[in-house]
Amino acid sequence: MERIRFGKTGLMVSRVAFGGIPIMRLSKPEAVNVVREIIDMDINFIDTAHGYNDSEEKIGEAIKGMPRDKLVIASKSPANDRKSFNEHLDLTLKRLGLEFVDIYQLHNVGSAERHKAVFGPDGAAAGLFDAVKAGKVRFAAFSSHSVPLAMQIMRTEKFAVVQLPINYIDTAAEEAIPLAKELDMGFIAMKPMGGGLLDNAELSFKYLLQFDNLVPDPGIERIEEMRQIVNIVNAKQTLSAEDKKTIEEQRREFGPEWCHRCDYCQPCPQKISISSVLTVKSLVKRMPFERAYKMANDNIQRAKNCIECGVCKTRCPYSLSIPDLLKKSVQLWTDAVAANPV
Ligand code: SF4
Ligand code: SF4
Repeated sequence: MERIRFGKTGLMVSRVAFGGIPIMRLSKPEAVNVVREIIDMDINFIDTAHGYNDSEEKIGEAIKGMPRDKLVIASKSPANDRKSFNEHLDLTLKRLGLEFVDIYQLHNVGSAERHKAVFGPDGAAAGLFDAVKAGKVRFAAFSSHSVPLAMQIMRTEKFAVVQLPINYIDTAAEEAIPLAKELDMGFIAMKPMGGGLLDNAELSFKYLLQFDNLVPDPGIERIEEMRQIVNIVNAKQTLSAEDKKTIEEQRREFGPEWCHRCDYCQPCPQKISISSVLTVKSLVKRMPFERAYKMANDNIQRAKNCIECGVCKTRCPYSLSIPDLLKKSVQLWTDAVAANPV
């Protein structure tokens, strides 16, 4: 598979990476097998997170004994403060069985509050920069769901890599692509298939691969899915006029319901975490249900307290019909709970 230079890191990474969320649902032997198979497909870039349950541990088992310089391993910490960050990083290294991780990201710096905490005195960012000096991390990075905030952080020029959600429906991060190029940053394309909501792999990867400085990291749990993606990537096909038409149709279909997780709709007087509720379908599709339940159930139950005041609707830049969509998500969740008793 083709390698590209990953910005100022100078790392040569495969044109597509592997995202470590869905292997949480697999048994350890199954997950180890999937990771080894994707490496056999010549994918050398694996991205996981401290918060993805046992994903780091499974990846660690799969890569045990492999030549370290043949792999690019990325992970993330959700810590706000330096102490928790250091604990997360040490646990990440232990789980992965590594002395250093190539890319370590401050996980989802997506709100003003988190930004303030992470970059405050003794915040997680200070821990990350010290870890780079100490050799535990090669390159400092961050992920975010907020494009404007991410661009603000990128401009500090303190990070070598950024990760943002982008796919042919959710295109807001296109704005950050030229900036990443200008600053010579690596760019990981999160949710290349909308977190499991888009099922047209060909369209998804043809769209993303038109940007030559970006590496999508699809999370898959079945090896056939990755084989299909690798074939699409290796074929180097570009978007045809027909593809562009299909994308336009799907944008019209999904657009009115697609939550971009920007959180501009907050705060809600009923303290409903709107974006978490509206994206629960992706959680149900990708997470082990027990874990999804722990993560989402309280939020979903709170969504039932929506008083339909409409304040959120006036703030949503995508004009989503939030109270109606909350009801749909609650119903989807109720059906999922009935199908997966916890
Ligand atoms: S309409 Fe519902 S979700 Fe939106 S702000 Fe009001 S209470 Fe919150
Ligand atoms: S509902 Fe609208 S404003 Fe709120 S997170 Fe989703 S896209 Fe953003």
